[in-house]
Amino acid sequence: MPLDDIKTRIAAAEQAAGRVAGSTCLIAVSKVQPAQRVEAVLQQGHRCFGENRVQEAAGKWPDFREHYDGIDLHLIGPLQTNKARQAMDLCNAIHSVDRVKLAGTLARLAQERGGCPDLFIQVNTGEEVQKAGILPDDADAFVASCRGMDLPVVGLMCIPPVGEEPALHFSLLAKIAARNGLDGLSMGMSADFETAIALGATHVRVGSAIFGTRVAP
Ligand SMILES: *Cc1c(COP(=O)(O)O)cnc(C)c1O
Repeated sequence: MPLDDIKTRIAAAEQAAGRVAGSTCLIAVSKVQPAQRVEAVLQQGHRCFGENRVQEAAGKWPDFREHYDGIDLHLIGPLQTNKARQAMDLCNAIHSVDRVKLAGTLARLAQERGGCPDLFIQVNTGEEVQKAGILPDDADAFVASCRGMDLPVVGLMCIPPVGEEPALHFSLLAKIAARNGLDGLSMGMSADFETAIALGATHVRVGSAIFGTRVAP
């Protein structure tokens, strides 16, 4: 679907929810997409992108940054501590802060580097064993401990379980964010971004709807 159509749908969802126009950031998820598809979106003036692997992001974005100004790159996938420094150097935001050890590493590196990307804490709203993220019951304490380490936590992120009503998970995430005084809500993907906007998403992560089906890596 053309980028403009996605933007139109976002604008309509904002209006339907009585939200300020332009209050949702569209993260175009470019993982595994061929460079020409990414370039086509860059040429339309879009600058906000998401990648789920540090390695892959490092392989393509420094090059794009040489040719396009103002690229805003978000890491939306799991982050190993040994890749934290590289991720911080490369990305403007990290959406997958999901454990104490990683938070500690980010805090140490933030001191060392004198800066840190915006951070979102990933919450495992479906309490799925195979999925990353802080359990909902542990979220308040984790937010507090990240703040105690002076980390710039701006919001929460979730990926609802496949086959469940995403609205329940988006509402839960919004509730946890509100009681912790966090404004950022990274939620909603190709199939459910309008629902996410209705429930307050500030960042939607849309891949296949923009770029087409991902080619298997
Ligand atoms: C791949 C991915 C997306 C985008 O998914 P689509 O269904 O293609 O829009 C969003 N969030 C995360 C964390 C992802 O890994």
